[in-house]
Amino acid sequence: MTATTQKTVAIIGAGPVGLAAAAHALERNLKPLVLEAGPTVGHAVRQWGHVRMFSPWEYGVDRAAERLLAATGWNSPDPKLYPTGGELVERYLEPLATRTALRDHVQTSSRVISISRSGFDKVKTKGRENAPFEIHYQNGAGPKTIRADAVIDASGSWSSPNPAGANGLAAIGEAEAQTRIAYAMPDVLTRDRARYAGRTVAVVGSGHSAVGGLIDLVRLKEEVPATKVIWLVRGADPAKAFGGGANDKLVARGELGARLARLVGDGQIQVEREFRITYVDETDGRLRIGSGSASSGRHAVADEMIVATGFRPDLFFLRELRIALDPALECPLALAPLIDPNEHSCGTVRPHGARELAQPEPGFYFAGMKSYGRAPTFLMLTGYEQVRSIIADIDGDRAAAERVELVLPETGVCNLRPAAGPEQGCCGGPAQQDAAACCAADEAAKSKGATGCGCG
Ligand SMILES: Cc1cc2nc3c(=O)[nH]c(=O)nc-3n(C[C@H](O)[C@H](O)[C@H](O)COP(=O)(O)OP(=O)(O)OC[C@H]3O[C@@H](n4cnc5c(N)ncnc54)[C@H](O)[C@@H]3O)c2cc1C
Repeated sequence: MTATTQKTVAIIGAGPVGLAAAAHALERNLKPLVLEAGPTVGHAVRQWGHVRMFSPWEYGVDRAAERLLAATGWNSPDPKLYPTGGELVERYLEPLATRTALRDHVQTSSRVISISRSGFDKVKTKGRENAPFEIHYQNGAGPKTIRADAVIDASGSWSSPNPAGANGLAAIGEAEAQTRIAYAMPDVLTRDRARYAGRTVAVVGSGHSAVGGLIDLVRLKEEVPATKVIWLVRGADPAKAFGGGANDKLVARGELGARLARLVGDGQIQVEREFRITYVDETDGRLRIGSGSASSGRHAVADEMIVATGFRPDLFFLRELRIALDPALECPLALAPLIDPNEHSCGTVRPHGARELAQPEPGFYFAGMKSYGRAPTFLMLTGYEQVRSIIADIDGDRAAAERVELVLPETGVCNLRPAAGPEQGCCGGPAQQDAAACCAADEAAKSKGATGCGCG
């Protein structure tokens, strides 16, 4: 490809997936421009820098990024060790963005605020696909505009956490009680220790962040016994948060759930089941967190509340683009059946790429954590495969875009246990041959001409 036809790819967000997209783009002689809202790369990961990851280094490094780093004499981490978020930034994302050829392609303190197509509003169709994207962003020097042939939105969802209300809305009084509420994973053992030590802390949610937060709070309680931990669970069965345990191929992730199960069993955590938060009010300097109506429901009293109920994508700056999302998950339509926690009984998600992530707006793709919308269980490795495929698609290499080059580790979580029994793993283990099958039982069913085992 000559310099005059070199395609420009705007990438929103310099997290692990956005930077990986840029590395793949460089390898294909495309021109990436990464716009990052934060003052440094890995801005979102830094916020959870104290958290030890549940996947080891071997699942945290993108292959194209690794090739760029190798050329600089990078001292690669031990693939079997588990980094913290902070180490992921320090040992991988920072060197990638500052010491490789990517350094000329990343702009920090640049928040994308809107995107359209040059000369076309959302309604106008004829010739639309040939018009470059126009991206408006804000940096210290004021509003700026760039143009690009393709856009990858890898802006994550860290900055839009779900609220405490069981109905998906902020609970009544939640906004007013913000000084006693933290979202996702505050650093209860070090940075934010003074805020939580010796206090009664209510944790809401049942995903990995909630599980990690509960475990850390019990550790704090061991050091400062006056600390009390309450877990507010929306469902009837808290065991759902315990995950795949020994069946989880990511050992550390399985172990997290198993540890929580032990702590609950030992009575270290007060569990409030079927607690559907409707209101929060501050009385006598404490939080009164209510389930049901203020006059007839239950309530829990705490000094602090940690809301770890997941994230939702910020779609506001995409308003002028033609976007089609699943109405429940807010993720690309073709991806929804693979990751819908209501339908997809197998927690293991098969790899996917450009085909599932493309939008009605030609040249625009979601990638990374944001591509999952409101669904949980996103893995960085999934994101690396997504952007490998997307960049191939932008480069016109359909064969590479369609190819699946990844086998994902199983979660071991499966609502549907096949006759073989749970000891055989999730739906009898991962699919061996058929990339369209999500597990062994699914593959066996499809090879016999059936529609599948029901896993996804
Ligand atoms: C606590 C925690 C632990 C996790 N542990 C693991 C793990 O062990 N293994 C694993 O595989 N996955 C893990 N994940 C899931 C996931 O892989 C990570 O969240 C990962 O950081 C997602 O990468 P990303 O690049 O998609 O998004 P992010 O890392 O969130 O990066 C998005 C970037 O976009 C920027 N941005 C946002 N809006 C804009 C805008 N409008 N304009 C410009 N820039 C913008 C943000 O500042 C941010 O830097 C974990 C997630 C969390 C929250």
